[in-house]
Parts: sequence; structure tokens; C-alpha cells
Amino acid sequence: MNCKSVIREISNYLDGELEPSVKQELEQHLEDCDDCKVVVDQVRLTVDVFCDSKPVELPSDIKSRLHEALRRKMKEKGNQA
Ligand SMILES: [Zn+2]
Repeated sequence: MNCKSVIREISNYLDGELEPSVKQELEQHLEDCDDCKVVVDQVRLTVDVFCDSKPVELPSDIKSRLHEALRRKMKEKGNQA
């Protein structure tokens, strides 16, 4: 599993919808990759905060910050490859 796959699967991962084998791969990657760990933590935090109360849209500033972080990350990794 690489960083792009992790990012692509983040929402499934946090929703608990990943195949056990995929989930294991993802968690293994997180063990070794601080970058992805930060992103997952960030997304999880955002999801927790906003899903506990009610199903609201993410505030646009948070949404854009998150998207920006993900975009930057994709670009970084893409350039490395
Ligand atoms: Zn990674």
C-alpha cells in the first residue's frame, strides 16, 4: 500500500468499510509513514467532531484546509514517484 492508496481509502477506513486485509495493509503503512498518520488523524478528528452532534456539512474553511492538505500530499508523493 502506498500513500495515494491510503488517502484514497481514508474515508472507507474511518467508516470501517475496508476489507480486513486492506485495513491491515493500511494500518501497516501508517506504522511506517508519519505523513499519512497525520492526515488520517486530522480526518478522523474532523469526522468525529462533526458527526457526534449531527450530520452537518463541514465548515468550508475546514473542508478547504483538509482538501488543501490532501492535494499537497498527493502532489508531493506524485512528484517523488
Ligand atoms: Zn504514506
